[in-house]
Amino acid sequence: SDTIRVGIAGYGNLGRGALAALARCPDMRLAGVFTRRDPTSLRLPDPATPVLPLDEAAAHRDDIDVMILCGGSKDDLPDQGPELARSFTTVDSYDTHARIPRYFEAIDAAARAHGNLSIIAVGWDPGLFSINRLMGEAILPAGATHTFWGKGLSQGHSDAIRRVPGVRAGVQYTIPVPEAVARVRAGEQPSLSPREKHRRECLVVLEPGADARAVEQAIVAMPDYFADYDTTVRFIDEATLAREHAGMPHGGFVIRSGQTASAERQTMEFSLKLDSNPAFTSSVLVAYARAAWRMKAAGETGARTVFDVAPGLLSPRSPEALRQALL
Ligand code: NDP
Repeated sequence: SDTIRVGIAGYGNLGRGALAALARCPDMRLAGVFTRRDPTSLRLPDPATPVLPLDEAAAHRDDIDVMILCGGSKDDLPDQGPELARSFTTVDSYDTHARIPRYFEAIDAAARAHGNLSIIAVGWDPGLFSINRLMGEAILPAGATHTFWGKGLSQGHSDAIRRVPGVRAGVQYTIPVPEAVARVRAGEQPSLSPREKHRRECLVVLEPGADARAVEQAIVAMPDYFADYDTTVRFIDEATLAREHAGMPHGGFVIRSGQTASAERQTMEFSLKLDSNPAFTSSVLVAYARAAWRMKAAGETGARTVFDVAPGLLSPRSPEALRQALL
């Protein structure tokens, strides 16, 4: 049959999300989950799913059409990406924006040398937001693009809070400043500082006996993460954190505002409102896995990004069906 056989490399939030997303795609099936941990220690929804050691993945290259890489961008993908691109067609959600060009080169070399195809930096940002930034710029060359993130939970900023002495647990929400969004939507094309665009809200559970004022000061003054923003710190108890802040919501907007004839104001806006960032990101990965398989089947090799993938390749429907239903 030509069901696409998919592997998942790394079983964290994205790995679990990819597994759930695959179950909604009848043209694809999960062939196996690969992990660095003891495979018997993972609990999957279906105990019959093969769970295999990641370092033996290459031995399964003939059983897998596309490998979805679900490792972390900071420490996992820089090694796992090029390594797995030697044996598999891959998709990943590498999101360290400044290092994407370097990561692209490493993946491109590995994929090309072994006749494979890899689509990198897939997800919502980078990913769907990138496509919308490109469209805005190409269609309205006279104009400005603004990206706002949130309201959403930022993993990196939450980790930074948890490293402050006296903090037992905590989360950080990034929140767009409504006045800034309104000015951009109105076509003003303002130049906005980080502080004017987003504010940061921290919800913190203190260690017993910790000094709340000292913790708050340490957070709001932290360079790179908080010092350039209006940051509020609220103290909550562990039960409230578990009850109200266990989800990973996120989202945001890409807004292009431009002019055609001098008095004609044109606005393009793309927005996402996500109850679960990883569940959505892995749904994007699964759609791009389908495209990667098709591009590889057509003889393409090397690294690609969302800019290089024709939209029709993401859909399980045929080009004819798409023309009829969605044009
Ligand atoms: P996780 O930390 O949940 O998982 C990363 C890796 O850690 C897994 O592949 C897994 O590897 C290992 N791991 C997971 N859980 C455990 C555990 N309990 N104990 C030990 N190891 C564990 O990261 P996410 O899945 O949430 O995110 C992955 C990356 O996705 C992020 O780094 C981010 O860069 C990217 N991302 C991109 C987005 C985009 O829009 N482009 C949006 C959201 C995220 P193994 O099974 O091998 O142990």
